[in-house]
Amino acid sequence: MSSTKPATDPLLSQLRSVLPESCIVSEPASMKPYECDGLSGYRQMPRVVVLPETVEQVQAVMKLCQQTGTPVVPRGAGTSLSGGATPHKDGVVLSVARLNKILHIDAQNRNATVQPGVRNLQISDAVQHLGLYYAPDPSSQIACTIGGNVAENAGGVHCLKYGLTVHNILQVKMVSLSGELVSFGSTALDSPGYDLLALMMGSEGMLGLVVEVVVRLLPQPSVARVLMAAFDDIEKAGNAVATVIASGIIPGGFEMMDKAAIQAAEAFVNVGYPTDAAAILLCELDGTEEDVIAQIEKVEILLAASGATDIRLASDENERVQFWSGRKNAFPAMGRISPDYYCMDGTIPRKEIGNVLTRISRLSEKYGLRVANVFHAGDGNLHPMILYDANEPGEFVKAEEFGGEILDLCVAVGGTITGEHGVGLEKIDRMCVQFDTPSLAQFRAVRKAFDPQGLLNPDKAVPTLARCAEFNAMHVHHGELPHPDLERF
Ligand SMILES: Cc1cc2nc3c(=O)[nH]c(=O)nc-3n(C[C@H](O)[C@H](O)[C@H](O)COP(=O)(O)OP(=O)(O)OC[C@H]3O[C@@H](n4cnc5c(N)ncnc54)[C@H](O)[C@@H]3O)c2cc1C
Repeated sequence: MSSTKPATDPLLSQLRSVLPESCIVSEPASMKPYECDGLSGYRQMPRVVVLPETVEQVQAVMKLCQQTGTPVVPRGAGTSLSGGATPHKDGVVLSVARLNKILHIDAQNRNATVQPGVRNLQISDAVQHLGLYYAPDPSSQIACTIGGNVAENAGGVHCLKYGLTVHNILQVKMVSLSGELVSFGSTALDSPGYDLLALMMGSEGMLGLVVEVVVRLLPQPSVARVLMAAFDDIEKAGNAVATVIASGIIPGGFEMMDKAAIQAAEAFVNVGYPTDAAAILLCELDGTEEDVIAQIEKVEILLAASGATDIRLASDENERVQFWSGRKNAFPAMGRISPDYYCMDGTIPRKEIGNVLTRISRLSEKYGLRVANVFHAGDGNLHPMILYDANEPGEFVKAEEFGGEILDLCVAVGGTITGEHGVGLEKIDRMCVQFDTPSLAQFRAVRKAFDPQGLLNPDKAVPTLARCAEFNAMHVHHGELPHPDLERF
C-alpha cells in the first residue's frame, strides 16, 4: 500500500487540473481491481488510477508525471501474465480502457485504425462482414487490448503462419513522457528512418503510451480443417511437429497438449479428446479447398510415420470448433484440478520439444508440483502450467523457482525466456541469464533515450546491471545447473 493518503496527496489536485473528476480513481476500494494483472501472485495498490478519454488528456497526464517525477504504469485490460501492468506504489496507473473506439476501417487497403483500448477480438468482429480478420489471436483475445498486444508483442494460435503482433501492425502513435504525440511506421510499404515501429513491439509500456494503432487486416481463408493426432509418447509428438514443418507445410495453427492438459480440458468441455493419450496435436490447415485437401493427405502420412496412434479429421465446422474448444478452454480447465496455476512462457527450437518436455516432467518430480503443458507447438512456444496451492505456505515461491528452472532450460537449448507474454516483473532476473552485460547495457541506453528519468513502468523488463550481478552470484552459488550445456556469465 502507498504510504501517501489519497485525500491529501498533492498529485490528486494536480491531476484534477488536467482531467475531469470522472477520470480519476483514488479511493482504495475502487482502486482494488487495479492492484494486479494476470500474474496475481504480485499485488501493489497504486497511488492513483486515471482513465483519460482523449489523447490530449493522455498528453497532459504524461507531462504532469514527468514534471512531478511520478512513475506511470500503462494498463490495457490487465491480462498480462508477466506482471507488466502491476502498479508502482508511488505511481499513476494510466488505463486506456476509455480509448476504445475503432476509428476507421479501410477495406480497400486492408487496414483498420483503432484506439489502444479496443479489444483484440473486437477488430475481427468489426470486419467479419468484409471477409477480413486480424490474425494475431491470443487466447485472451476476448478481453486483451490492442495497446497491450503491441506492448507485449502478443501471439496466438495463428501466429505460426500469419506472424506475431509485430508482423501485423503498420503504424503506431504514442505519447512520450514529455507529452508529445509521435508516430512510427506508415501504411505504405516502407517508411524511412529507423524502424522505431518495431521497437514499440514488446516495449512493455517503457517507451511511451500507445494511443493509436493501424492494424493489418487479412482475408479470411476460404477453408479451414483441423486434424487431431494422438501419441503414446510425448517425445514422438514433439518430433512430429518438427517433421511436419520441416516438410514445408505451415499449418494455420499447430498446438500440443499433454496428458494432464487433455484430461483437464476433456473433463471441462467434453469434446471427445483421447484421455489415455500421452499427448495430442491439433493441426489446422487453411487456404483454398484444393490446397487444404492436398495438405491434409501429406500431414496425415507424416503424423502416422511419426508414430501417431490415432488421427482424426474434424468432419465438419461444428467438430472443428469442438476440437479447438478443448484447447481454448485449457486455462480455465486448470481451475478444476488445482486451486492455482502459474503459467510459464518460453520458446525453444521445435526439435527440442520432446527433450524439454521430458526434462520438465523430471523437474516436476523434483519440486513435487504437478505440471500441465498446452502450447503453440509449431512456434516452439511452451506454456507449462505449474499447479500449486497459494494457501499452502511456500508453494508459490516453489512454483516460481520451478518456473525459473524451466526458463533456464529454454535458454540452454537455444531458446528464449519469452514467446509472447513479455518479461515484466516475472522474468526480469532471467534477462540476466538470456543476455550478456553489453547487450543489457544497450537495452538500458535505448530506454534512457525515450525516458531519461526512468518513470515509465519502472523496475520491469530490463534489469539494472547491479541486479544482474547480484542475481548471477546467488544463482551460480545456490542454483543447480538445470542443463549440462548451460553456462552463466
Ligand atoms: C487466460 C489468458 C490467456 C492468454 N493467452 C495469451 C496468448 O495466447 N498469447 C499472448 O501473447 N498472450 C496471452 N496472454 C497474456 C496477455 O493477454 C497478453 O500479454 C496481452 O497482450 C495483454 O494485453 P492487455 O490489454 O491485457 O495488457 P495489460 O495486461 O494491461 O498490459 C500489458 C503490458 O502492456 C503495457 N501496456 C498496456 N497498454 C499499453 C498502451 N496503450 N501503451 C503502452 N503500454 C501499454 C502495460 O504497461 C504492461 O506492461 C494470456 C493471458 C491470459 C490471462
